[in-house]
Amino acid sequence: MASNDKISCAAELLRSGELVAFATETVYGLGADATNADAVAAVFEAKGRPQFNPLIIHVADVKAARRIVRFTKQADELAEQFWPGALTLVLPRTENCQVSFLASAGLSTLAVRIPSKESTHDFLQEAGVPVAAPSANKSGRVSPTEAAHVTEAFGNEISMILDDGSCPIGVESTVLDLTKSKPVILRHGGITLEEIKTVTGEVSQAKQSSPTIASPGMLSTHYATTAPLRLGIKTVFKDEALLAFGKKIPDHHGPMLNLSADRNLREAAANLFGMMRQLDKFKPKAIAAMPIPETGLGAAINDRLKRAASC
Ligand code: AMP
Ligand code: MG
Repeated sequence: MASNDKISCAAELLRSGELVAFATETVYGLGADATNADAVAAVFEAKGRPQFNPLIIHVADVKAARRIVRFTKQADELAEQFWPGALTLVLPRTENCQVSFLASAGLSTLAVRIPSKESTHDFLQEAGVPVAAPSANKSGRVSPTEAAHVTEAFGNEISMILDDGSCPIGVESTVLDLTKSKPVILRHGGITLEEIKTVTGEVSQAKQSSPTIASPGMLSTHYATTAPLRLGIKTVFKDEALLAFGKKIPDHHGPMLNLSADRNLREAAANLFGMMRQLDKFKPKAIAAMPIPETGLGAAINDRLKRAASC
């Protein structure tokens, strides 16, 4: 059992921007303060994910969930029945939602869950911030169900593992999208389709072959800015906005935001979605984006920029 001291320590580390792995009833999660884009960028970096996928946001209770997403009647009923538990609900963000756009990979919806394990609840309660957490394994590897699996994968890369033995469910949560006319199962998991149907009636299943639904992080149109995007630019044209990177910036008089003057890719990842949105608000003829190196988090940044540019 995780002691109160360890829970306090984990919560404090998380609040100060560190990554903390923690036990849940499904699998171990690799958590970051979801309101801190830099910490969220560190999660993608640690996992070595080649793309930014939207992460599940973990909160202690329904009150905390209501601060970040807008509930529908169906969401109320499902929460009543299955929370805390292995069901993740995808809902629209609230107006004042403080969760970084990097945590939802730029989407205006959020996947939210209230875990049932007691130590997880206490940790989230004490952290007092929404916690973005994918499973605590390297990208493409098996999800961890013991603290030792997390140590094997990350060693000293993360600040702390909140060890609470093995995960009783051992598979990920079920992800249910409630933003469509009918609920759609995006991922099967700890709560069964039959159980969900007892509350919602009809449920659609995302086809495995449908990349758009099965993996919303891959869907280009979710990320498109209204203004077209020009990538790898060396010169900026009149009426364009500039998404800069580094200190050697081309001549430009219009709106400009710099992903990272220091060429720090974690900082650039943390700024990416917010800056794309901000530049779009100027209604420029196009957003001209400077080249980003393809190393480390740069690969995911370029992947996202290419998807947005191809729309
Ligand atoms: P993992 O990071 O391995 O826990 O997986 C998270 C799951 O939740 C993936 O299947 C994501 O595609 C899904 N997900 C997270 N956020 C959203 C969202 N805003 N909209 C749709 N699906 C989401
Ligand atoms: Mg996973």
